[in-house]
Amino acid sequence: MSRDQSQERYLLGTTIPFILAHVACLAALWTGVSVADLALCAGLYAARMFGVTGGYHRYFSHRTYKTSRVMAFILGFLAQSSAQRGILWWAGTHRHHHRFSDGPEDVHSPVRRSFVYSHVGWIFSDRYDTTDLSLVPDLAKYPELLWLERHPYLPAVMTGFVVWLLAGWSGLVVGFLWSTVLCWHATFAINSLAHVHGSRRYVTGDQSRNNWWLALLTLGEGWHNNHHHYQGSVRQGFRWYEIDISYYVLRAMAAVGLVWDLRVPSERAIQYDQKLTPAVVEKAAGQLAASFQVESIAADLRARLAEKRGHVQHELAELVDRWHRQLDEKVEHLRHDLDELFHAIHVPAMPSMAELRDKAAAMFAHTPNLNDIVERTRQMLIDGVHDELLGRRGTTAH
Ligand SMILES: [Zn+2]
Ligand SMILES: [Zn+2]
Repeated sequence: MSRDQSQERYLLGTTIPFILAHVACLAALWTGVSVADLALCAGLYAARMFGVTGGYHRYFSHRTYKTSRVMAFILGFLAQSSAQRGILWWAGTHRHHHRFSDGPEDVHSPVRRSFVYSHVGWIFSDRYDTTDLSLVPDLAKYPELLWLERHPYLPAVMTGFVVWLLAGWSGLVVGFLWSTVLCWHATFAINSLAHVHGSRRYVTGDQSRNNWWLALLTLGEGWHNNHHHYQGSVRQGFRWYEIDISYYVLRAMAAVGLVWDLRVPSERAIQYDQKLTPAVVEKAAGQLAASFQVESIAADLRARLAEKRGHVQHELAELVDRWHRQLDEKVEHLRHDLDELFHAIHVPAMPSMAELRDKAAAMFAHTPNLNDIVERTRQMLIDGVHDELLGRRGTTAH
C-alpha cells in the first residue's frame, strides 16, 4: 500500500461498469418516470443505505453490536446489494482508513490526495483492489461471509433482476439504478466531504467532521467526527438532536431480538474534556507541525547563527561555535543543543510556545491535552530542523 503514486493504475474492469451505471440512468428519458418508480427509488435507497451503515460499517467494519450468523449473512447480502464490493474488502479498507486516517497511508484522504480521489478514485486503484484478509480475521472465519466476498456483485444483480421482474424497465432504471448511484455517492461523501466540511467536536488527529445534512442523507453516518472519536459505538449521533436513523433501526431490531449487545459509549467517554490517547496527541501534533515549514526554520536558524557569530556574549558564542563545528562535521544527536539554541536566539521562523498554543487552540476542538500537543509539536519541529540541517530530510518519516 505504500507504492509510489506514479505507479498507480486505474482498473478498467471496475471503472467502466461504474461509469456505464451513471450513463444508464439517462435511460429514464425513454422509460419515463412515474411516482411509483420514485417511491421505489426512495425505498431501495433507504434499505440499501441501511445495509451500508448497519451492515458494512457498524457491523462488519466495527463490530459495534452482535447478531446471529443468519442475520449477519442477511446484513451482508443487503450491504452488497448496494454494489460496493465484498463485505471483507469494505471492512478491511475501512479499518485501514481508521488506522491511518488522513495520514500518508490513508486509503482515501481528501487532505492527502485530491477530493475526487478520496471520493471515487481510490476505489478503482490497483493498489486497493485485493482484499487484505489480515485486516478482517474475525470475518474471514465464516464460510458464508467468504462466499459473499467471492460474489461481490451477485446480491446487486439479483436485486436488480427482481426489481425488473416486478416493476419493469422504468422500475429498473429509476427505482434500482438511480438509487444505486445515489447510494454510492452518499456513501463516498463520508470519505470525502465528511473529512472536509462540518464541525469538529473532538480532537481525533484527523480531519473528520460532524455534518448534520450528511447525517440525514446517510442515515447517521454524517456524525463522522463523533465516529472517529469513538469508532466502537453503534450510535454515531451522540446527542438526542443528532439524528441517527441507523441507530434507531438497530434499536428497534434489538427490541425484537434480531441484534443484541449494542455498544454505546458512557456519558464520560463522550464528554469534551476526555483525555486523548498518546496516539491521537501524536497525530494532532503531526498536523500542527505540518503547518510549519521546517526548511524555512532551518534556513532562518542558519542565518541567525551566522549573524550572531562573534557578536554575542561568551556562553552563547561558545554554543554558536560548537554548532558551526558540529554542523560542518554533521554530528548526530544535536537535538538537545537545538532546543537550547531556540531558547537562546530569537529565530522568527520558529514559532514560540505561545504561538503554537494559539494556533493549536484555533485548529483543534477543546481538549485538556492542548499543552501535550503543543510540546510534542515543538519537539517534532526541532527534529525536523535537525534532520534538515544534517541534510537528512525525506529519509525520515514525518
Ligand atoms: Zn473517516
Ligand atoms: Zn468507521
